[in-house]
Amino acid sequence: MLLDVTQDSNVGNLTSNKKINLMLGNENKLLFGISGLPIGDGSRKFNYASGIEYVKSIGLDAMELLFVRSVNVTAKNKDIILKTKLENDVYLSAHGSHYINLNAHESEKQEQSMARIIKAMEGLSEVKGKSLIFHPGYYLNDSKEDTYNTIKKNLLKLPYKGVDYRLETTGKSTQFGTLEELVSLCREVSSCKLCIDFSHIHARGNGSLKGYKDFSKILQYVLDMLGRPALDDLHIHMGGIDYSEKGERKHLPLLESDFNYTACLKALRDFNVSGCVILEGPLVEKDALLLKNIYMKMLNI
Ligand SMILES: [Zn+2]
Repeated sequence: MLLDVTQDSNVGNLTSNKKINLMLGNENKLLFGISGLPIGDGSRKFNYASGIEYVKSIGLDAMELLFVRSVNVTAKNKDIILKTKLENDVYLSAHGSHYINLNAHESEKQEQSMARIIKAMEGLSEVKGKSLIFHPGYYLNDSKEDTYNTIKKNLLKLPYKGVDYRLETTGKSTQFGTLEELVSLCREVSSCKLCIDFSHIHARGNGSLKGYKDFSKILQYVLDMLGRPALDDLHIHMGGIDYSEKGERKHLPLLESDFNYTACLKALRDFNVSGCVILEGPLVEKDALLLKNIYMKMLNI
């Protein structure tokens, strides 16, 4: 009860700050989009170009291209994707390969991982995408510190060509990528920025993100460690998730999960976070619109 009162008074203050920002015209913006192609009503199959058009037509702002198996922006489709992206003013990011381990024991595998990241960055840059999201690697049987150092050494070698490398918080304890590890890498490697997957953090902690305070603690930590620019341009993944004590199992529709998206969105609003929220889950655009509509209501827009 007490907590609610504090929360509400904070909300009041921040909301009036937000109104001032709006009047001054320097309002930051949170975009909402989907991971991969939309599903529509099931009567047509989308490609990236028609998907971008559709996403915009239903009121969303962003799409995350899925390069998880291969970089599927090619010489054949890149022009039409770029044209459609520019005409519709849709923000593009991409999710890199699932086969990346910058801490692989064989140096050949580390090099292959680097090559996959660079190829994805180049593909995304062809269509003027901004953020390449990936999971940097696995601990295998190495110490956390050794893993960190090997991954850092590799990240430092990545060329920067205008696409940010977004290190994503991971959903399993065998995967490198706690919030603390990634924030620390972002401080040390200038080409890297953060992708907070709130659902992964929730699953990795076996249901640890319960209420508003849990979400605001994360954002406060990012603000303290990386400063205001990190919250002014944050990449976020969200979605319903099924998990066990071992971490993430699979994505679920938001309404069938225990993920507290309302508290998460409130915290994003109160910290005045800008950037992009990508919904991951089987309902794709339906759940992305659910998030965007709740968020817009919270802003009183
Ligand atoms: Zn991911």
